[in-house]
Amino acid sequence: MTRHADIAIPSSGAYVLRRARVPGCFLRQPLVGQQVDPEGSVLLDIHVEGEKIAGVRLAGSKPGDGVQTEIDLQGRQVWATLIDMHAHLDKGQVVPRVAPDGSLSGGITLTAADQSRWTLQDVRQRMEFGIRCAYVHGVSVIRTHIDSVDPRTTPMSWEAFSELRTAWAGKMALQAVGITPLTAFLDHSGVELADRVAAAKGILGGWTDGIAQHGPDRADLDGLLDRFFSAAGDRGLDVDLHVDQSDDVDAFTLPDVARAVLRTGFDGRVVVDHCVNLALQPASVIERTIDLCLQAKLAFVTLPTPMMYLQDRHVGRTPRWRGVTVAHELMAAGVPVAIGGDNCRDAWFPFGDHDMVDTVKQSVRVFQLDNPIAQAVAMAGPIPSAIVEQPDIGWIDEGSTARFILFGARTLNELMCRPQADRIVIDRGQRITDALPDYEELTPTATLLASSAFRARF
Ligand SMILES: [Zn+2]
Repeated sequence: MTRHADIAIPSSGAYVLRRARVPGCFLRQPLVGQQVDPEGSVLLDIHVEGEKIAGVRLAGSKPGDGVQTEIDLQGRQVWATLIDMHAHLDKGQVVPRVAPDGSLSGGITLTAADQSRWTLQDVRQRMEFGIRCAYVHGVSVIRTHIDSVDPRTTPMSWEAFSELRTAWAGKMALQAVGITPLTAFLDHSGVELADRVAAAKGILGGWTDGIAQHGPDRADLDGLLDRFFSAAGDRGLDVDLHVDQSDDVDAFTLPDVARAVLRTGFDGRVVVDHCVNLALQPASVIERTIDLCLQAKLAFVTLPTPMMYLQDRHVGRTPRWRGVTVAHELMAAGVPVAIGGDNCRDAWFPFGDHDMVDTVKQSVRVFQLDNPIAQAVAMAGPIPSAIVEQPDIGWIDEGSTARFILFGARTLNELMCRPQADRIVIDRGQRITDALPDYEELTPTATLLASSAFRARF
């Protein structure tokens, strides 16, 4: 068998990836006569011409017209490149200058403190560092939330985002969600953000955290949600809300969000992120809420890696729950559920590398998504592709742009068990040659060794 590292992708001309083992979720339609392996994958020949997939056929297909290079993958896994539909590029890559304490309140206060150091150059450099990591790992779309509260940092974060969206066009599709507490819609600041988002062709976001923000009876919540949805609706914006990122069962606002969508007749797309305390509600409330979410056509994003880190954390006490939403029940009811990476090396979550393959692998374990295992793969490819309206990405079908991840693993089980650091990423028909960016770029070794944060923590 050819070693994975020796697989050569031609730099020009047509080629065929023969005997590629593709999880069925990446195919828009089953192929006539296809045979599915026990994990749900199909053995295929993928014909590539220039930047496009010229054909997807059952393994053993005839060569197409013209000169083609034949590459026999001998049954190794091939995925479409993936989608990370929930990141925070503006806040990321600040460890060790920020030392997270693992609490949600620490996430807020340490981020606010770090923002005093932000400059346009600093934000742009850290954002691009995150994008480069994602690109090398095989991600083609990132939806990032942009903190839009501090009047000093908000303009620079949006400027950095807009420059990078242009610079990376074609390689990485970048989408931005402007986020602020929902209470910003009590005064003019929410409307100003909606105008900024509309000007940047972004998505309107925010967070609805229950009692802490709205008081025990949440009397203002309906009015705030109405103002929020009308600000989005008036400007033709889609919305994407952080909802119930808390283990407080009383701080439960998801049904209020769903009811607001139905009450206002909002007709844009609505994404809700986290929704973790749904998992702590009584079974009858979970059932009723899922029904309401279906009626309101909500799409969910679950962010298991930072939630496992942040939720149910108490010093000296082992966490008792996993901190994630009821993904199985939502999907069984027909609600779309995607996985996102969320925070990365920031005040909320000190780990991560914008690697959606790793996020899929962790999700399989956190959510017990191994029966069938390909379901978790779909949550980072075809499912978010529809939610973020990037129909060309996350699929392997004729006519789509040729973007793939080629793995050394033959089965999803092998893929789950080893790191896959030797994956080959193909963008628009060509193998990418970029390496992961070096941390030295952000923190020179001399600075790292001299920093008090480093000395205190390591
Ligand atoms: Zn988030």
